[in-house]
Parts: sequence; C-alpha cells; structure tokens
Amino acid sequence: MIEENLEAGLSFDNLDLAPEVLHAVRDAGYTHPTPIQQQAIPLALAGRDLIGLAQTGTGKTAGFTLPIVHNLISTPLTAENGEPVHRVRVLILTPTRELAAQVEESFRKYGKYTDLRVVPIFGGVGIEPQSKALLNGVDVVVATPGRLLDHMERQNVSFDDLEVLVLDEADRMLDMGFAPQLNRIVAEIPPYRQTLLFSATMPPEVEALARRYLRKPVVVQVGRRSEAASTVTHAVYPVPRDRKSTLLVELLKEANMDSVLIFTRTKHGADRVVRHLEDQGIAATAMHADKSQGERTRALEDFKSGKIRVLVATDIAQRGLDVSGISHVINYDVPQQPEDYVHRIGRTGRAAATGDAYTFMSPDEIAMVRTIERMIGQQIPRISVPGYDFGTTSDVAVPVATEQDPVDIAPPVSINAEGDPVATQKRYRRTRSVARRR
Ligand code: AMP
Repeated sequence: MIEENLEAGLSFDNLDLAPEVLHAVRDAGYTHPTPIQQQAIPLALAGRDLIGLAQTGTGKTAGFTLPIVHNLISTPLTAENGEPVHRVRVLILTPTRELAAQVEESFRKYGKYTDLRVVPIFGGVGIEPQSKALLNGVDVVVATPGRLLDHMERQNVSFDDLEVLVLDEADRMLDMGFAPQLNRIVAEIPPYRQTLLFSATMPPEVEALARRYLRKPVVVQVGRRSEAASTVTHAVYPVPRDRKSTLLVELLKEANMDSVLIFTRTKHGADRVVRHLEDQGIAATAMHADKSQGERTRALEDFKSGKIRVLVATDIAQRGLDVSGISHVINYDVPQQPEDYVHRIGRTGRAAATGDAYTFMSPDEIAMVRTIERMIGQQIPRISVPGYDFGTTSDVAVPVATEQDPVDIAPPVSINAEGDPVATQKRYRRTRSVARRR
C-alpha cells in the first residue's frame, strides 16, 4: 500500500498548495503526500529542475501534476477583460499512449477546480480532433513524441509560451528509440523553462539527456513499492466482441510488444485466438487444461526463451506462472472475477521493470470492468481506437472555441534555478485567433 511509505506527520496542508489543488487532493482521498511527493512538490513549486528517480506506483504523477497545476493557476494568463487565455504552458512527454492517457487523467483530476485545459496527443487515433483541440487553445499538452512531431509539422502547436517540460519515464522513451524525436521537440522549446525528468533507472543515456536538458537539477529518489503490480500501466480498449481479434493483431504489430501473455475466458477461445494470430503470421501458442503437461512445459519454455512472442492462456496459467520479462498482458476477455484481474496483471508487474496491461472490453463486459475498478480503487483509462471503439468514450476533450482578439496578457512570473522569481522577457501583446493561426 502506498500508505506504508508515508511519513507520519506531514500532511498536504504543509505543502503550500492552492486551495483548488488541495480540494482536489482531498476529493481523491489522499491524506498524506508520498515520499516522492514530499520531496518533489516543494522543489517543483520553487521552479527547480528535477530528476525524479521513481517508478509508477510511487505517486510520482501527482508529484509533478500538483505543483504544476498550482504554478499555472498562481500565474494565470488572462486577456485585458480578465478572460483566461489558453496557451501551451506545460508539455509532458511520455513513451506510450497508455501513460499519456493516465497523466492526462491526473491533470483532469487535480485540475478539476480550475479552468485549465489539457489535451492528450498520441498516435493510433484520429489526428483531426487533436488538431482542433490544440488550435482552440490548451494549457497542458500530454504527448507521445511521434504524434506531437506530426502536429508540430502541421503548425498546430506553438511552444513560445512554454514554461514547464516534463519527461516522464525517460529511460523507457530512450529504450524505445525516441532520442531523435526528443531532440527535435526540445529544440523548439524556449531554453528558459523548468524541466522535470522522471525515470525508473538512471543509465548513462538518461544521465546524458539530463545533462543536456536540465539546469542545476536536484535529484530525488524513492524506493520501489513492494506491490507486484505497481509498475503496470493499465488501459481498457472498448471494442465489440467480433472485432477483438483484429484489434489484437493491430496491437501486436506495435514495435514494443516483446512478449505478450494473452488471457481468454475459455479453452476454445484460446485456440481460436492462436489460430487467428497464426493466420496473420504471428507465432503464438496456447496453454490450457486440454494440453498435456509436456505441451505446457514446452510452450512455457518457448515463451521464456523468446522463441514464441505470444502465449495465449486460460486461467490455469494465472497463478504460479512466473515468466520474467513479460512486456504486456492482454485480457482478451474481461476476467469474471475481479481478483483475477489483479493476479493477471501481477504477472507483468513482478517480472518486468515496466509493463502494460490492456483489457478488451465489449459492451456486455462494461459492468465487469466497473466492478474491477471499484475493487482496485481506481479508474482504468480508456483508449479509444477509431473503427473499434463502440462509442462509450471520448478520449480527446475538444474545448469550445474562444476567440480573443487582440489580447493583452499579464506576464507570468518565471522562477530561476535558485528559486527566485525573475522578470520574463517575453512580449505578451499579440493577436490571436484560431482561424489565423492555421
Ligand atoms: P503513480 O505512481 O503516479 O502512478 O501513482 C500510483 C497510485 O497512487 C495512483 O493510483 C494514485 O492515485 C495514487 N496516489 C498518488 N498519490 C497518493 C497519495 N498521496 N496517497 C494515496 N494514494 C496516492
């Protein structure tokens, strides 16, 4: 439990956060900041650059979201008539769309008593709604590097007003080969900014990145939480039952799915999935009660050695199966018992430094997902894939267009590396309208 790590005594009230932020924290049910939050929040509030050595599950997301929301609302951008003006002031880069969706949700949760606009930008979904949202004006962009570059090329987004850059799971971004994209993005960002870098590990490549992008950073570090699933990123894909197999093939074609454990409800279901994957040229093997012990052992060996990338299993594989290095778990069917969800995703959390757990949810499984969410005490982000989603979610919030023309904005207060406020050099009178920006 996250609470085990909490230092008695210090409460959120000691952290000098704005009432709007504290209100949202109370709504979330948090009583005490986690260790990473205790260390990171005061530094981030003071405008320091930060290296956070912390994994998912430590509360790191709130560790940067809370001070960012506080700083944004403390120095609002407003027009002469007092109307809020929405410019990209914060950019968060994440390696995967699942993480982007989680971070976006975190901004919505902790920014619920503010009028901040946040937009998630990732591939695999239509670019147009994202373009519209960007052009309408947003304060916070949470993006994966590739799709963000597409928007930058289309001139959908300007970083002239950017104040804070966050690199989340920096080690994973580099593992996934995003270094060139990061360089191209950061080249477009004003050098006078606050940069926060989070990473579970600190290999030399991340150190080099930090040296290049951060100024006089403070390093904060927390140990790993003991919970097996603490490193897992969850996501639910709404998809009709008869489209699950095609969605699966699409996801498996994504480059970073190294070893995937897929769970189906029935033996026949497992066999069907294996046949479908093989038809599509993806080597897979099934593991269930109809297979002999020898067959099961061989399947497991092939999976462990990397000979077979995809193992499709029913519940028998669930407990006691310790496979190191699983990169993904896919619940092809929503588990009937909520506890099984936790056990299943525990496979990847225990084995790998990071892991993703996707759940395919057909309309008849919505109620089961809700039960799971109640049990694990958190909402699992929905990923809407066009052509698959049956329309229960909308992942891209498109704010209503506002025209402000011309606007005179109070300059925001910037804070230097020593934590002192400094005058900003930017000119803040400019003409802006959605149409003209295009
Ligand atoms: P993260 O490491 O950011 O992925 O957060 C892991 C989980 O901890 C999330 O479900 C958060 O909602 C939860 N969490 C974050 N901060 C706190 C806190 N101060 N107290 C209790 N739970 C928290």
